[in-house]
Formats: sequence, C-alpha cells, structure tokens
Amino acid sequence: MSVQVYANLGGVEESATLGMTRLAAELKAADLPVISLSAGEPDFATPGFIAEAGIEAIRDGQTHYPPAAGLAPLRAEVAAYLSQECGGAYTPEQVLVTVGAKQALFNAIFTLFGPGNRIVIPAPYWVSYPPIARLARAVPVILETTAADGFKPDPDRVAALFRSGARGLVLNSPSNPSGAVLSGAELDRLVAIAAKYDAWIISDEIYHAIVYNTEHASVAARARDYERVVLVNGFSKAFAMTGWRVGYAVGPREVIAAMTRLQGHINTNTALPCQYAALAALSEREPRQRAIEEMVLAFNRRRDLLLKGVAAIPGLTPYPPDGAFYLWIDAGRWCDSLGANSTGLCMDLLDNERLALVPGEAFGADRFIRLSFAATEEALTEALERLADASVRLGLR
Ligand code: PMP
Ligand code: GLU
Repeated sequence: MSVQVYANLGGVEESATLGMTRLAAELKAADLPVISLSAGEPDFATPGFIAEAGIEAIRDGQTHYPPAAGLAPLRAEVAAYLSQECGGAYTPEQVLVTVGAKQALFNAIFTLFGPGNRIVIPAPYWVSYPPIARLARAVPVILETTAADGFKPDPDRVAALFRSGARGLVLNSPSNPSGAVLSGAELDRLVAIAAKYDAWIISDEIYHAIVYNTEHASVAARARDYERVVLVNGFSKAFAMTGWRVGYAVGPREVIAAMTRLQGHINTNTALPCQYAALAALSEREPRQRAIEEMVLAFNRRRDLLLKGVAAIPGLTPYPPDGAFYLWIDAGRWCDSLGANSTGLCMDLLDNERLALVPGEAFGADRFIRLSFAATEEALTEALERLADASVRLGLR
C-alpha cells in the first residue's frame, strides 16, 4: 500500500497513553496479572443521577441528530457553570459542545492555526498537543520547564517566543502529567504577555475540579478583558464520564462559530443522550458537588499513599501534584541503570513486573515516568511492591 495514503497524518503515531493502556489490556486478556496505572481515567462509576439522565433521554426518544454546536440548554448550562465555578462571563453562543475535550482542542487548534504557525507548548505536555498542532500543519515549539520552576512555563521565555513570532500558547492547569497548578497571579502574567503580542491562549482546564490544598485559577476569570482565549474543558475527569465523550470549548463568538462549521463537516456533535447526561451533571448542583468531593477525597488519600511509597524506593523522585491524578516521577537513575530511555524502562516494567506506566518521553521529558492514581488503593499498594522489586532487580540503592 502506498505511503501516500497516510500523507495527511504526517508521521503522527499512536497516543502513548492509549497505546500503553491497550498493551496492558492485551496482557490482561491473556490472563497475565497486569496492573495498569497508564490511562488517565477515573476508576469511579459515572454518578447515578448522571447515568440515569442519559438513559432517560434514550427512553424519551432523544436519539436523533444533535445540533452541531450542541444542545442549547447544555450550552447555557456550561456558561452558567463557568460563571459559578470559574468566574467566567460567557453567553451560550460562546460555547461549543464537542466529542470530549480532545475534540475541543483539535477544533480550536485546527481553526486558529495554519501552516507554519508556531504554537508554544510547555513540556512536560499532555501527549496529544503536539500531534494536534502538526495535523493543523502548525509547528509545536516545545518550551521546557524544570522541577525548580514547579514545571511551570517561565513567562520571560514565553515572551521571547512570542516576540520571535509564535502565535499561540497551550496551557494545561492542573497539568497532566506534572500536576502543576498555575496560581491566579501566574496566569495573569501569562495572559498579559499574550495580550502584548496578540497571541492566542488555549487553556485546557479538564482537571479543574481535582486539586489538592490549593485553588484552581481559570482563564474564565483571569482573562476577562483579553479576547484571544479559548477555554477547553469537559466531563471525563470531574464526573467520571470518559466513555460518554462530552467536552466543550468556550471562546469568542466568531471563533466558536468557525469551530462549529468545522465540526459540522466531521462528526456533527457527540451523541445526544450523552449531552443530556452532561446537562444533568451541571444542572443538579448538590449531587454534583457531593460526587466531586468524594472523588477528590479518594484521590487525595491515594496521592498521599503513593508519595510516601515512591519516595522510599531508591532512585525515584516523585513530585507532589497540586492537581489532576498523576504522579510525575524522575526515574533518570533507573534509566541509567537499565541503559534505556523512559520508553525502554516502561517496557521493561511491563515485561518484568507486569506494571503499566507511561514513559516521560511521550510527554516531552524523557527521564520521567507517569503513574496514574486513578486506581484502587489495593492496586497502588501492589504497584509500589512491584516498583520496589524492580529497584532491587536494577541494582538501585
Ligand atoms: N486534556 C488533557 C490534559 C487530558 O489529560 C485529557 C485526557 N483524556 C484530555 C484533554 C481529553 O479528555 P476527553 O476525555 O474529554 O477527550
Ligand atoms: N488523558 C488521559 C491520559 O493522559 C486518557 C488517555 C488519553 O486520552 O490520552 O492518560
């Protein structure tokens, strides 16, 4: 078959998060005792009141085409939610419902950027940002961050990249994979820099509800006077709704209208019953808050368990996350011991310890590994034991 067939993919490879999850599932299907801490997927069931609303919608015959921009009451509810929870002031016309936050990101980047446009992506970054940029023929400009900076982008370096022509910046707070959370003041500074150079900010706030001993600051509140901002969010993480595939983008009316046109030629929108479920998630405030609080409490317990456990394993340095549900671990000494990069290390852990983690290489930081703590405490405890075994096998002390 001619390679030309794939020309539009421009070398885009399988998502490493999904790839590792697939490998782990294949081994599990072959009855191997694999622990998968690879996918960023809450292990909780979708709260009952949300699931029921989806089922009810099917029974009610809400099984036809959805409007391309999304169900009107859901768009209104998203605008209301962003005003209550994130300090935003949006109209429903500024909201586009999408097939998960992933599609909101794709639509935003594909709409705003074109061939040769440079987009600043701080590393470590979520795996799909650079491929999405490349699919839009744009150029991802990776801006490294360090543990010393709390894995947050240095504003002066962002300014320098804008000055030399970059047109956009992707922010992700709380961050997947590092768990870094930008403060209101840090966000203000980045917005001011973008404003100075007329650059776009795409702010992926999918983990907004999952923070530990800190507050989430949203561009909804911090970028009020600056228009060139698209906020991306969704239902997968805060409401344990990964399989329902509902997300949204919020931004200037004309941009949302253009993104809607794009979506109208590709997938129309996400399934209508799923939009009704999402509507229930936002409109029923009390059960929603209760469900989120319970999940965050459980994540917090697991976070503590892991931080203590990983810190005690020779050669691994965990960085306490302020948000999301990942532990970002410097495993450089393990890589050195094995004589491999983070991908080689993760394959070794999968083969020898039956433990699936995601290599830092996929996030643009090759001496790290990412461990998702969206798993039971029992699974996490067993994972710690397997990591301790690996440290002995690799001769670390
Ligand atoms: N952004 C980040 C940072 C994520 O971790 C994910 C996880 N899937 C997404 C976007 C996409 O989420 P969704 O399931 O809503 O497409
Ligand atoms: N975002 C999650 C992760 O980082 C789910 C997988 C994906 O969509 O990439 O693991």
